[in-house]
Amino acid sequence: MAMLPSLASAASPSDTVDGLMRPATLPRAIIFDLDATLWSPELFEIAGRPFRRVLTKGRGKKGLTAAHTVVDRRGTPIGLFSDARHVLEELATDRRWEGVVLGLASRTDCVEDAHELLEVIQITPTHTMADLFPRHVRQIFPGSKRAHFQRLHEITGIPYREMAFWDDWDLNCRDVSRLGVYCCHVPEGLTLSRWEKALDGFARRKEEEGW
Ligand SMILES: [Mg+2]
Repeated sequence: MAMLPSLASAASPSDTVDGLMRPATLPRAIIFDLDATLWSPELFEIAGRPFRRVLTKGRGKKGLTAAHTVVDRRGTPIGLFSDARHVLEELATDRRWEGVVLGLASRTDCVEDAHELLEVIQITPTHTMADLFPRHVRQIFPGSKRAHFQRLHEITGIPYREMAFWDDWDLNCRDVSRLGVYCCHVPEGLTLSRWEKALDGFARRKEEEGW
């Protein structure tokens, strides 16, 4: 694919993925909280693992279609917010996100439940959440979220200012933003508007700071 000279000169090698240009304005790491940011209800509110998929049927454009709902051991449904699902689908399938690290920072006490649920929730026919968020970039443990980000920084080598983070709790956002991470408070869970607004804000900050 021919590359415009202006784009070629503006991009460092890390901005090139399989010959495609990853916009230099994108964060190098996209990090999400889990409870009440990506999924609901929160893990402490339900009975927990084992989780299983239950086949449900709905009428799609071409007749009956099947989809899965995830339930806990007592049959309580737990799942992604619809906009969060849309964002995760994009991250899994749109090539502009190739090379961007996807990670999780969760303070839950229900650590094993979180890992199991990530294995069970399907994003696309070929991706579970666990495929999107490999184990080494899942920081799931109680305590200050600064510790989660210190580990993510050590593991990935990505500077804090090149990370973007979404969390439903403003205290976590305030805490993590002191490290230099671009934080977006999502009190109603991740929405498409907050997703796009944060990416715009990240790009604007990068431009203003000139790095
Ligand atoms: Mg939360």
